[in-house]
Amino acid sequence: MVLPPVPLSLPPPKIAKDAAKASKRIHQENFQPIVPQTLTQLLGFPNMEVTHFYIEEQEGSQYLHLVCDHQQDVALCPRCQQAATSGYDHKTRSVRHLDVFGMRTIIHFEKRRFDCEVCGTPFSELLSWIEPKRRQTRAYEQQIYERVKKRPANKWP
Ligand SMILES: [Zn+2]
Repeated sequence: MVLPPVPLSLPPPKIAKDAAKASKRIHQENFQPIVPQTLTQLLGFPNMEVTHFYIEEQEGSQYLHLVCDHQQDVALCPRCQQAATSGYDHKTRSVRHLDVFGMRTIIHFEKRRFDCEVCGTPFSELLSWIEPKRRQTRAYEQQIYERVKKRPANKWP
């Protein structure tokens, strides 16, 4: 008895073909030089700057750690919409983000709490790229959601 060949999970051929044509499609002047702000631009979190990185080897996997710093010392109070400048407290958080170059990526940042001088209530700063109290970024959650959506129901998990 001959067993049917095991299907290889290769990416669709269109992707590799598109990559091969990229040098003709993209004009030379569109390529930008790498500068200190490049990682910050590629990450694309508003008002966050990537300041440090570290590649960690753990049990045969590579982890890319990116340390981000806030570019502004103010945050909008969610109650009265006034800018608050005085810090209440902060703690360092580490959350999962999309893989970069095949490395599992962890974002380190300060979760800040502010004291609103106008309404007098402390509040946690809201960030557009992560929901409050989550352990992963919105982009990472979106990727997981897309994968689950594409998977046929009878092949779970
Ligand atoms: Zn307020």
